[in-house]
Amino acid sequence: MTDCIFCRVGRGASPSWKVYENDKVYAFLDINPATRYHTLVIPKAHYTNIFDIAEEDLKEVITVVQKIARLYREKLGMEDIQIISNTGAAAQQTVFHIHFHIVPRSTTDGQDIHWVTHREWRGEFNDMLEKLR
Ligand code: AMP
Ligand code: ZN
Repeated sequence: MTDCIFCRVGRGASPSWKVYENDKVYAFLDINPATRYHTLVIPKAHYTNIFDIAEEDLKEVITVVQKIARLYREKLGMEDIQIISNTGAAAQQTVFHIHFHIVPRSTTDGQDIHWVTHREWRGEFNDMLEKLR
């Protein structure tokens, strides 16, 4: 059995600012928030990331993500929200217990996720798809 910081948070063994909880899922404020109400949603059971989480628990987690998004819209008027889940170190996952970030956004929050894009790769798309067959 893996036991990690988010396992401990999920069972109340480590302090957190709880937003919501049910039998399977726990949601709490990120201690290093990018914006106000930056929230993490986790399954209480330990899974590393998108590869190993049981489908049923993934459904429970994403349902809570939606519930919290709606709560923030209803209570706080937040309409613009980024939902992010990193899988693997190169994808900037730092806590290896799957979590979804809910990051409320506004035009004045000073944040900017900027992708460097490559339209020139369109010529490779057919070959790329061929590798999946
Ligand atoms: P990631 O880089 O996607 O793995 O995100 C991990 C997030 O967990 C970071 O945004 C951290 O600030 C946050 N974090 C780590 N430990 C805690 C904790 N004990 N309570 C709340 N947030 C945490
Ligand atoms: Zn864990």
